[in-house]
Amino acid sequence: MIKQCIYRIGVGILILFLFFTLSVVGSARCADADGDGILSVADARIALRIAVRLDIPTEEQQKDCDLDRDGAITPADAREILRLSVGFGRSDDSANSGMPDAEFIGLTDNYYKVYNKNGVTYIDSIIIANKTYALPDDYDTNGLVNECRDAFAALQTAAKKDGVNIYLNSGFRPYSEQKELYDEYVRDYGTDYADAYAARPGHSEHQTGLAIDVTNDTGYFTGSPEAQWLHANCVQYGFILRYPEGKSDKTGYSPEAWHIRFVGTEKAAKLNGSGLCLEEYYGITSFYFQQTDQPPILF
Ligand SMILES: [Zn+2]
Repeated sequence: MIKQCIYRIGVGILILFLFFTLSVVGSARCADADGDGILSVADARIALRIAVRLDIPTEEQQKDCDLDRDGAITPADAREILRLSVGFGRSDDSANSGMPDAEFIGLTDNYYKVYNKNGVTYIDSIIIANKTYALPDDYDTNGLVNECRDAFAALQTAAKKDGVNIYLNSGFRPYSEQKELYDEYVRDYGTDYADAYAARPGHSEHQTGLAIDVTNDTGYFTGSPEAQWLHANCVQYGFILRYPEGKSDKTGYSPEAWHIRFVGTEKAAKLNGSGLCLEEYYGITSFYFQQTDQPPILF
């Protein structure tokens, strides 16, 4: 009996490990033409040979090397792979500036570079916290990040000028607080329920110190004039609506009219202008390795 139990736990751990390994390797494999797990100049050379028809690509290479996804491996793809392999990054993004001491861990589905710095994931110089990418338990900004706090104050003042009253309902939430919240749900109602109503510790965007839940005088925010004002104006102040309508399968969360995330004015304009949510824009996932059926709601 015990033996069988240990065996089952062992198999479970093995499956989880394999799934995790494949996910990570999967993201790092793009453009890795020789499949050695490292993006190197050799990969660029292979792509170039294929581009000028000295080599016939395998199906895998065809997928990996076609960075611009135009259906053919061209010298442009080879050039892009070369840029990536020597650390210049995509030619059309500035994702690598300011991240000199971070570890390059792979490419997203949209070929953005993914960095890890002290356990924190960065893409396009933005901290990523969702169901796939967790923050370390000791990541603590000790309150809202200054830029975010100042931007929200400016946003609030602008709203007031338009006769709209908005307030900060919830800002920074440390790991320990999220853990208490989540554990309480698990204790009282079980894991499925907990996952439906609270982010797991480390996975809450509030731990970044860059997310704010906004409220109004009535406390009924969704669909309110205040929500409409917020959605129309937050971008100018560097915020994006993080969990929009119709994107639950991408963000991993039910729509939240009140949750905004500070990314700076330039990136907010870029992200918002694309009409895509953050996960879609960068080509990343948001799901727990043990997937739940219901997209959770985050308070
Ligand atoms: Zn929130």
